[in-house]
Amino acid sequence: MSLLTLTEVGKSYRRTPALRPVSLDLEPGELVALAGPSGSGKSTLLMIAGGWETPDTGVVTPHPPLPDRPMAEQQWDHVGFVPQSIGLFEELSITDNLVFPARNRQDRTDVTKLLETLDLAKFAGRRPARISRGEQQRVAVARALVTAPALVLADEPTSHQDRAHAELVLTSLRAAADAGATVLVASHDPLLTQHADRTITLAGA
Ligand code: ADP
Repeated sequence: MSLLTLTEVGKSYRRTPALRPVSLDLEPGELVALAGPSGSGKSTLLMIAGGWETPDTGVVTPHPPLPDRPMAEQQWDHVGFVPQSIGLFEELSITDNLVFPARNRQDRTDVTKLLETLDLAKFAGRRPARISRGEQQRVAVARALVTAPALVLADEPTSHQDRAHAELVLTSLRAAADAGATVLVASHDPLLTQHADRTITLAGA
């Protein structure tokens, strides 16, 4: 059974289309690449899939339905998100940025192992301002995976990576899918196609 079904979802801002109606059925265990020109609505679709934006048209059906709690509370338990803006807690160490979303979980992924997998172990005690943008982005990837959520949404997660580190990011996302998560990745990175089960291409304006 699918984890999330989007049926003809679309969104406009001030009557300008941000996302033309699209349908998407996402299964547990698959990594789906989201392609399309800049401005075609990839980020908007991720925000709708995560429940942070409401579509103007169409229906979003999560299976099972999400609990009736404020999105902020349930966010990290159910959905891991790698935003383009990265958005780490500046006052927390890298380790504590990962411990934070997993703080209520018994079954959290091993933070140390995740840091090693993403070549971040040597930065564990530093604050985000003292590591590079690429390293910060890998912390955001680790943060999205640390609760082992059912749904992982990643917005251009390799945009600040060299090829070797892009491979680490994509391998980690693939591993999450192989462990049963549904992973949706918006990206132009040609490496992504080697890791994705399929690609959905959004039409431009
Ligand atoms: P992509 O991720 O494919 O580059 P986006 O989803 O970021 O596309 O944006 C799709 C279109 O919607 C763009 O033209 C963008 O300028 C517009 N858009 C996105 N968010 C907003 C917003 N909050 N207000 C107005 N326009 C927006």
